[in-house]
Amino acid sequence: MTHITELVDEAVRGARRYPRCSHEQALVYSCEDVAQRHAPLRTLLRPEVVDFVANVCMEEDVDIPHVEFGRRRTRCSAWADRTTRTVWFGSARPLVGTVLHELAHLVARADAHDPEFRFTYLRLVRRHAGIQHAGLLRSLYIGTGLDNDPVHRL
Ligand SMILES: [Zn+2]
Repeated sequence: MTHITELVDEAVRGARRYPRCSHEQALVYSCEDVAQRHAPLRTLLRPEVVDFVANVCMEEDVDIPHVEFGRRRTRCSAWADRTTRTVWFGSARPLVGTVLHELAHLVARADAHDPEFRFTYLRLVRRHAGIQHAGLLRSLYIGTGLDNDPVHRL
């Protein structure tokens, strides 16, 4: 079994794959990549995405956003626009984690990937995806220094 310190190292190294992002943002993305590799969440088909988004939003008591798919001139694989309440996915088969990441921007009312965002994202993953993935992600946030207080923070 892989030790958590090895996965933390993997997340820190992986942050280099996001050179245009802030250090915090790059680490958040990299932690998600590592969590997906070691505790995979499934992909959703396009019609499933629409239902999943609606179900999550109803349970979270937030308005359901417009859901769009398709190619755009962007380096992102997905984004959420809080002004137009739109979530967009470059892939027609996005990962559950990607969908929840974008919904966390709407639920947390945060464009950044700050502690408030991470708290919300973890909560959504626990509730709507899986506690194994959420637990690993939380350990990675702590291990990489994103969230230093293992008791009170997330
Ligand atoms: Zn984001």
